Amino acid sequence: MRDMNEICTNCGSSAIFQQIAPFTFVHGGKETTIDDERTVCGTCGSIVYSGDQISRHELAVAAKIRELDGLLSAEALRRIRLKYALRQTDLEAMLSIGPKTWTRWERGKVPQNKAADTLIRVLATDPEVARHLMMQANIDNPAADAVFAQIDEDTKRLAEANLRARIIASGRNMDIADMAQHAINAVREARHELGVQAA
Ligand SMILES: [Zn+2]
Repeated sequence: MRDMNEICTNCGSSAIFQQIAPFTFVHGGKETTIDDERTVCGTCGSIVYSGDQISRHELAVAAKIRELDGLLSAEALRRIRLKYALRQTDLEAMLSIGPKTWTRWERGKVPQNKAADTLIRVLATDPEVARHLMMQANIDNPAADAVFAQIDEDTKRLAEANLRARIIASGRNMDIADMAQHAINAVREARHELGVQAA
């Protein structure tokens, strides 16, 4: 599909066509190649990028950089955000990043930095971290509150079953300290299980 001017801007020829060509760039001291789409004039040979082609080029470069640096994809960022019913502005406040920063990351044109990526991975698998960051940033988001309430319900249900199994396995000869330790472990395992499910 043609998405730009139908004639060559250089010579006026209408013999223009789309071409997929390798594009090489350097990242982290290493050469990397992606497939690039561009518009070529069959008459004068000039090569141009349409607006859409520039957009796709930027997305492809950013996606490649994410892949090379082992960063979460833009789609993964969106999935994580929606899992907690958070808005883009919520995450910008929670991560102390500038306005529109998360939006740019999630659109895919700009890769997040490694430190942010690490924190996002932690909050993705640990709802307590997500909730803590949300409270710390004073975010008012009833939809997210409902998600966290549901996570609490699920955690409680799993932890109860877990604790019951531990009490039965112990032969009921536990003192309060043992009981407290089992309760902590039961909650921890429940959270882990829920985090693993969510990942
Ligand atoms: Zn031309």
